[in-house]
Amino acid sequence: MAILVTGGTGYIGSHTVVELLKNNKEVVIVDNLSNSSKDIVDKIEQITGKKCKFYEVDIRDAEDLIKVFNENEIDSVIHFAGLKAVGESVYKPLEYYDNNVIGTIKLLEVMKASGCKKLVFSSSATVYGDPGTPKYTEELGRGKASSPYGATKITIEEILENLYASDNTWTISMLRYFNPIGAHESGIIGENPNGIPNNLMPYIQKVATGELKELSIFGDDYDTKDGTCIRDYIHVVDLALGHIKALEKLEKPGIYVYNLGTGKGHSVLEIVKTFEKVNNIKLNYKIAPRRAGDLAEFFADPSKAKKELGWEAKKGIEEMCRDSWNFAKNAK
Ligand code: NAD
Ligand code: UDP
Repeated sequence: MAILVTGGTGYIGSHTVVELLKNNKEVVIVDNLSNSSKDIVDKIEQITGKKCKFYEVDIRDAEDLIKVFNENEIDSVIHFAGLKAVGESVYKPLEYYDNNVIGTIKLLEVMKASGCKKLVFSSSATVYGDPGTPKYTEELGRGKASSPYGATKITIEEILENLYASDNTWTISMLRYFNPIGAHESGIIGENPNGIPNNLMPYIQKVATGELKELSIFGDDYDTKDGTCIRDYIHVVDLALGHIKALEKLEKPGIYVYNLGTGKGHSVLEIVKTFEKVNNIKLNYKIAPRRAGDLAEFFADPSKAKKELGWEAKKGIEEMCRDSWNFAKNAK
């Protein structure tokens, strides 16, 4: 039996495939390569010494997806495929709804037709909106989306709940990620977006390599310990391991939701200083105005994942910063 990983050549997907292969699982990847490249498949093999099948397929193309299901014995799906740039989604809402929402519906239709009813879905802490408390517990429920990207995640969670309500033989796990950073310890895979990055760590990486001149820290006048925003940064390998645990839980039908974060908040300045210290590098940065839509502080309450999945994040920001640079200095 194989596990289908949509978006498996992407940042989180590739790290998850590595952990699946290490656990002797059979893996089939589908990815349209819109934000990744095929050489990731070779890199996964280089790390694990194991092979996985790869199909260059867009999940919105039902015919291609059906072929993948017909050619493989797929019993569960981890669904990463989607567009993820918050800022871009404001300018391209239709593309985001089409790719993320329609893409997921097509995937679910094909799964249903194939009798495969086990799914792990990549959701996000953004579904909480602005709940008025920095510690996000699953009981808070979904809030109001602050971007079309966030709206697609909220909509997909609702679709999955509706689907389960209509047929409770499905087993669905919705994983709400906090801020994934870091890279595989080998330095072979990591996050290397094209163009100018939006997210903090890829931006820091490009300042460190000299590709970008200076990091702008968006605001130092927040009501936080040093005035900069606080987030819950989680090592991508810890996040990948959360998927392995969530898959194990798919034995029993139901719909589950889990925060995947460390439970610890770190400020932008702490990340910058830690990156400098562990890598012995000086980063050029300046304080810039606040970025529209940013919340001052939020972090996960990860206790539900610990209690029910037996999962907890192990790696701290030192390892995250060291592994990010170990990857970025080679990827330049
Ligand atoms: P990524 O862009 O690196 O990976 C996504 C992969 O999906 C890419 O390889 C891309 O080519 C592929 N893809 C996109 N649309 C597709 C389609 N229609 N058909 C087939 N493949 C398609 O992103 P990531 O950081 O690995 O994120 C993975 C998932 O996790 C996304 O759904 C994202 O929204 C979610 N997520 C990410 C973060 C984060 O900070 N990275 C946080 C919360 C949630
Ligand atoms: N940030 C920053 N400069 C950048 C990118 C991000 O100061 O060039 C800050 C941003 O304001 C936020 C934190 O870093 O407080 C994390 O931002 P990111 O976009 O990585 O993730 P988000 O939490 O917004 O999804």
